[in-house]
This record gives sequence, structure tokens and C-alpha cells, in this order.
Amino acid sequence: MAKKKSKKKEPRPQKATKFIFISGGVISGIGKGITSASISAILKSKGFTVAPVKIDMYLNQDAGTIRPQEHGEVFVTDDGIETDQDLGHYERFTGENLSRANYITTGQIYAEVLRKERAFEYDGEDVEAIPHVTNEILRRITLAGRKADIAIVELGGTVGEYQNAIFFEASRILKLRHPGDVLHVHVAYLPIPSYLGEMKSKPVQQSVRMLNSMGIEPDIIVGRSEIPMDDKRKERVALFCNVDKKAVLSNPDVRSIYEVPVILNQQSAGEIILEKLGLEKRNKDMHEWKILLRQISNPKHEIKIAVVGKYFGTGNFELADSYVSVIEAIKHAGWACKANIKLSWVDSLKVEESGAKKVLSGYEGIIVPGGFGSRGTEGMIAAIRYARENNIPYLGLCYGMQMAAIEFARNVLKMRGANTTEIDLKAKFPIVHIMPDQEKKLLSRDYGASMRLGAWQCVLKKGSLAEKLYGTRRISERHRHRYEFNNKFRAVFEKAGLVFSGASPDGKLAEVLELPSHPFFMGSQFHPEFKSRPFAPHPLFKGFIGAILKLRKEKEKQMQTQEQKAAEAETIKVAAPAK
Ligand code: GLN
Repeated sequence: MAKKKSKKKEPRPQKATKFIFISGGVISGIGKGITSASISAILKSKGFTVAPVKIDMYLNQDAGTIRPQEHGEVFVTDDGIETDQDLGHYERFTGENLSRANYITTGQIYAEVLRKERAFEYDGEDVEAIPHVTNEILRRITLAGRKADIAIVELGGTVGEYQNAIFFEASRILKLRHPGDVLHVHVAYLPIPSYLGEMKSKPVQQSVRMLNSMGIEPDIIVGRSEIPMDDKRKERVALFCNVDKKAVLSNPDVRSIYEVPVILNQQSAGEIILEKLGLEKRNKDMHEWKILLRQISNPKHEIKIAVVGKYFGTGNFELADSYVSVIEAIKHAGWACKANIKLSWVDSLKVEESGAKKVLSGYEGIIVPGGFGSRGTEGMIAAIRYARENNIPYLGLCYGMQMAAIEFARNVLKMRGANTTEIDLKAKFPIVHIMPDQEKKLLSRDYGASMRLGAWQCVLKKGSLAEKLYGTRRISERHRHRYEFNNKFRAVFEKAGLVFSGASPDGKLAEVLELPSHPFFMGSQFHPEFKSRPFAPHPLFKGFIGAILKLRKEKEKQMQTQEQKAAEAETIKVAAPAK
């Protein structure tokens, strides 16, 4: 007789990926990204492989076509997807290189569902939000997490928005299918109205109600607030939001975002998550984070650096968002050199109006980051000239490298009218011009994901500063550009002392330029900032900060000798007998 098939539900295989969804409530911009990155870091430090995923609710297929003021920085992965800045935080906190699998937008989901519909892959069914769109969302999330123990999925936007509801719905369905393998963490804000002076938990309760109305019960609540939540507040949130008190975690404002993993870990975030997911801790954890925090809080030097760019028009907050990887990379390098970096945001238009000397004196280093279009470029060029002529360390990132080449052409090689064809199509000296394949793309209005993107190899020149800093000749760095240095001018530049110290392996594309006669003058066609990590600061940024400190030391020494000489002269004068 054939054995009767057991009716018991198939258990999930032992190695099934676990999923943590992270949503936000009350207000946007409360640091869901940092919370997701921190939880990923904590779980990694406990011995688990993690796959952080960001879901953005807009219909764009990637962040590449969104204005920086609108979206903040466009972060680029090795495999060349133009993503949200949160992926940058995930990479920096976990030390992992992520890929296009880790970034999902509504646009991508719908594009795939519509493609399948046209290809008759739904076998004649009417295609609907549920289950077809939710299934596509779950397919993508599962794909992202397939090699990891735990996928940490950040749901973009705030709970209650019309636009992201379908993703919440997908998370609900996944939990229904695999209750033991799915957690929901809700990050919500507790205001302290100044007229009351008291932290209020009601908005969090209401935000959780909203989640409940979508059929979701949070397992953990992260309370974001100016100061730590007290016991009373934690109790209230636990009671009214139906969670254990120990699963209410406080995430107060901190000086450095790198404190967040340690703060959450101190409240047993990792243990609580693992317990709820039925997993056991594998490693002793967070040791390196504690060392990092010590490094951050004990600087020996303070350095003032100016970042000269545009996108500064509408206040400091947006600005910091547009260049978040640059900011982080500078900080990482600073900590490695025991320095606290004071960054100033200098609008290049201001440099145009008031002159470089007036705006930039007092800074020990100048950076011109990536950019597009003509606005503010004359100010960038003036800033670079000021840095070059006054021996102030300069680091140019992508557009900042192209602008450095133009500045050199105009002011050293006396090529009046030198420019990039991005700004002046008829430039007399087109020092920077469009890459041949890019021209075709622009003519056919093929704008989306069509730049030279992602990681490309670069070969460094023997004996160059770049080679010295990297400690190797073959590197791989991330790119995002359409224009390149025009090789027609290479020989004249070299004759005048500029060194092209990095090039694509076929030698055609200039990737790094440097000026050996200057204390530190370097530009890269790629974006080194995307690969800097707190535990592995980037060599170019470290070189830049190192050069500033070296110069400072030399100046101090010079001053000491001068003072000493003056004192000696004084003694001789006094000691000399009167005639
Ligand atoms: N606009 C320049 C180009 O496309 C530089 C781009 C950038 O700075 N990312 O080549």
C-alpha cells in the first residue's frame, strides 16, 4: 500500500532567507536608511550574511534621471546602477558591495509586470495589483536575499502614503506565508514640542494604527527623537502599539551616524531580532565599531575644508544630501589621520561673485565634486586656480577633474576659451569633450542609465603619487560621466608639467591627473567617494588629508625657525655692548 502523504505543511528549508521590513512613520527623513544600515551592520557583526534592499516608491526606474535637489545624491554601484543614497549607507555600514538586485523602484516593478503581460506570461489572466504586482515585488526581494541569511528591506516613504501601499501589502503577504521568517520594524518620530518640553508618543501610536489598518503588526519599534526615550515613553509605546517593552528601541539624535549601530546594539537590538527570527548569535560582535567610535571622538587636529559646488541654492540640508558620499569619505579619511574635518559648503556662484581669495582664504583644502551643466562652473575654475597658485591641496572628483584640466589650459597654457563641450559646443579649445558612444545616445534622447557607469579598471602610472597612495597599479573605481579629457591636448599638458597618472587599460581615457610641483593637486574622472568606508578609508582622500597635515607641520616648523631666529637676533642685540 502506498504511504499516505502527510498533510503537514512542508517546512521551509533550514537555510531559508529571513526578511526584515523597515518602515517609517510620522515624518519623512527620520533616518530609516541609517536604521536599516545599522541593523544590517549589527546582524553582520553577529555572524550573519545580510542583503540590504532599498525600495523607492517613484515611477523612475532608477535615480539617474532625478534632479539632485529633488533626490539627493545618486549613488553608483559596481555594476553601474544609479541608486538612492541609502545604498551608500548600507555599503559603508556593512562593507559589502551591493548591486542592482538591492535596489527596487515602483517603475522597475511595473515595467517587468507590463513586459510579462505583453509576453503572454500571465497565460491570459487579467493582470492585477494583487497578486501580480505583489508577486513581482516578492520575486525581486527574494532574488536580492537569495544568498543571504537575512534580507533587510527598507520601505521608502512613510506609512499611509498612497504610493508605497503596495509594498507594505507585499510584506504582509510574505509574513502570512512565512510567519516565523518575517519581521516588521517600524521607525517613528517622537516630537518634543518646545512649548511643552515633553516627549510625546501619540504620533507613534497613530502611525502604528495606520500600519495595523494595513494588516501589519510591527515586531519592533524604533523611536527617533532628539534625546533618548525614557522608560515611561517606552512603556506607553509598548502598551499602545502591542509590542514587548524591550522591543521598543530608542534611537536619539547623535553626533555621528556611526554611533547608531552601537546604540541599538546596547539595547539588544540584535538579540531581539535573532530571537524573533529563531536564529542564534554566531559571533562576538561590534568590537570594531567601538574602536571606530573611540577614533571619532578623540581627534588630534581640526581641518577646515571647502567643498565648492552647486546644488547649494536651497539651504544646507539639501546640499548635504547631494554630496553625502563625499562628506562621508572626507570624514573617514579624517578619522584615519586623527583629524576632525570641518566642512564648509561654498556655492561656486559666490566664488564667481566675490572672488576666490575672499571666499576661500582660511581653508586648508579645496574639493570640487561631481556635477553637470554650466551653472557655477566659472566659480569652480576660479577656486581651482586659487588652490593651484597658492599651494592649497586640491581634490577634483569627476567634474572637478575636468574643471581642473580646463583651469590648467586657460591659466597655464594660456588657451583662452578652453572649455568642455558640455558647456560650450564651439569651444576654441575643447579640453573636455563627449565620449564617442555617448554622443549617439544623446542624439537619440537615450538618457536613462546610459552614461559610462559603474566600476571600470584603471591603470596607474609607475612612480606617480596616485600609485604611491593606492599602493598598486591596477585599480577599479566607479564612474558616472559622458565626457572625457580630449587626448588631442595631452602632450601640451604633459610638457607643462601635468601628469596623467591614471588611464583606462587601453590607454585611451584619462582617469587621473596630478601636478607633481604642487603639494597635492589631483583629479579623478571616477568617483572615489563611492568606495570609501569607515573601516577602509579611500587612499585618495587619505592622501589629501595627509598632504594638508604635512603642509601644516612644515609651516609650523618654518614659523618656529623664524621665531627662533628673531629671538636669537634679539639676544645678540641685547648682549652686544653699547659703543
Ligand atoms: N558632467 C560631466 C560628465 O558628464 C561630469 C559628471 C560627473 O561629475 N559625475 O562627464
